[in-house]
Amino acid sequence: MSVKQDFISPEQVYDVLIVGAGPVGLASAIALYRRGIKNILVIDRASEFRRVGQMVDLLPNGLKSLKYIDELAYLKVKEAGFEFRQPPNNPDDKNNAGEPEKPPQKRAWHHKNLQGNIIRSIPLDFETWFNRYGEGRVSLPWFDLQTTLRNLLPPEIVLANHRCVNVTEDSTGTQISCVCDNRAPATNPFAHWETHKTDAIEIDSTDNFTSDSIQKNFRAKLVVAADGINSTIRQALYKNSDLSQWAKPQYSDFSAIGCLQIDSVPDEIIQELESKYFQGDRIITLYQDPIKSDSQYLEQPRIILIRQSDNTLGYLLHAPLSLDSLPNKSAEEKIELAVNVLEKANFPLIFIRLVNLSNPENLFSRPYYIHPATISLDSKPVWSSGRVVLAGDAAHGMPPFAAQGVNQGFEDAASIATAIAKIINDNVLDDEKAIANAFNQYEQIRRPFMMKIQEATIKNHVWSQQQWEDYSEMVYSRNLQQASGNLV
Ligand SMILES: Cc1cc2nc3c(=O)[nH]c(=O)nc-3n(C[C@H](O)[C@H](O)[C@H](O)COP(=O)(O)OP(=O)(O)OC[C@H]3O[C@@H](n4cnc5c(N)ncnc54)[C@H](O)[C@@H]3O)c2cc1C
Repeated sequence: MSVKQDFISPEQVYDVLIVGAGPVGLASAIALYRRGIKNILVIDRASEFRRVGQMVDLLPNGLKSLKYIDELAYLKVKEAGFEFRQPPNNPDDKNNAGEPEKPPQKRAWHHKNLQGNIIRSIPLDFETWFNRYGEGRVSLPWFDLQTTLRNLLPPEIVLANHRCVNVTEDSTGTQISCVCDNRAPATNPFAHWETHKTDAIEIDSTDNFTSDSIQKNFRAKLVVAADGINSTIRQALYKNSDLSQWAKPQYSDFSAIGCLQIDSVPDEIIQELESKYFQGDRIITLYQDPIKSDSQYLEQPRIILIRQSDNTLGYLLHAPLSLDSLPNKSAEEKIELAVNVLEKANFPLIFIRLVNLSNPENLFSRPYYIHPATISLDSKPVWSSGRVVLAGDAAHGMPPFAAQGVNQGFEDAASIATAIAKIINDNVLDDEKAIANAFNQYEQIRRPFMMKIQEATIKNHVWSQQQWEDYSEMVYSRNLQQASGNLV
């Protein structure tokens, strides 16, 4: 297919080009901008920035990193999280007028066994986390996080509708080739949780141009690849190397099937779920008690039950399924699959009845992928090659079971920005060795920690309360500056 060429002015060479305007790309851009590095550009493949994506929990380690990146970004994100949790009172609303502000309710996310007993309890409010770990916790939708961060940068340096299709390097810099194509999908399905989508999510090809495509080439001294788990840049870097098998994300052996809003659940089901399981909570996770079960519990499914604010019920099932279980299946077949999973794992009948009530049009499914951080450090390139460095999900994407994707990505952004600021301040942008040293140091700091986080992500559902608290202490309490040898 022929592609129209549109070369950006040949003399424009960016100090840093960031591919991907997700949370990690934008946090990296803000960190650079605030450190006086303003000759930067962020590009994103989404044809427009629009409301997509799942909820994201930002935990103390992520918020500490964001504060280090930029105090204002930290405050704005926290504010957006608080507003999402408690929409501001409408002054015209008579019910609220004059009433003293109520302190936010302290809630917890309980993990329970199938008898309804609590195995683990995770606080949900900002203050409990803050008092324990020196920083709080906020939740907000992915799009609100993206918008909040995007609004902190001059609009002209964040471009939508620029899909990177290749990266090449020579001794003076890097060329990023992009395709601008208004008919391209509005979003990258790997970046988001499309809740009302029943289609299987496929790993797409990187070179599918249409006749309307315009190709643009950008030149930059350094490139931060924050283009998500299905990273084009990672694929370009690993191609033809001994790491080619790690270019695309690996299936994690787990998939999700969910229906967040089931329209009509009979009262008796609601009452039984309430009295045995919810017990006043709005969200709970249920699985076989690993201590009491002799099953292969690492491979056990778990179900998250959600009572929405309008009192309707929803669920999200995380199930060990083979990768070929979901594609080309109708919503009804996926419901049947979910029911089979629950039956096989001896879940009580009430869960099977609930799942059978799923509205097909609200059903969604998604395989979870991972870029294992455990691949050999002896082979290069791993997280960087020459002038290009991988960050966030592009480096170490993983299933969301420990809610660490963005949080770890913010740790990456903080340490990459510090490394790049040093390269630029030392005036060594043309010194390939100095660049390699800086990016290696970033990787030496971040990879061992990511190995621990990924292991915890896969195993955390079999932990006791004590194991969860030990892990939390390790991840959330640490002083990032000390932990990362001043690269943060
Ligand atoms: C259901 C679910 C729940 C989650 N919950 C949490 C949570 O509670 N806490 C948490 O910390 N994490 C959570 N995560 C993980 C989190 O969403 C990701 O780890 C995070 O979004 C990664 O950020 P990123 O910027 O690296 O990549 P992404 O968010 O994937 O952003 C990548 C960006 O790059 C763009 N892009 C992709 N390819 C190209 C290309 N070729 N050219 C140009 N642009 C491109 C995309 O359009 C996108 O905007 C969850 C994930 C899921 C699926």
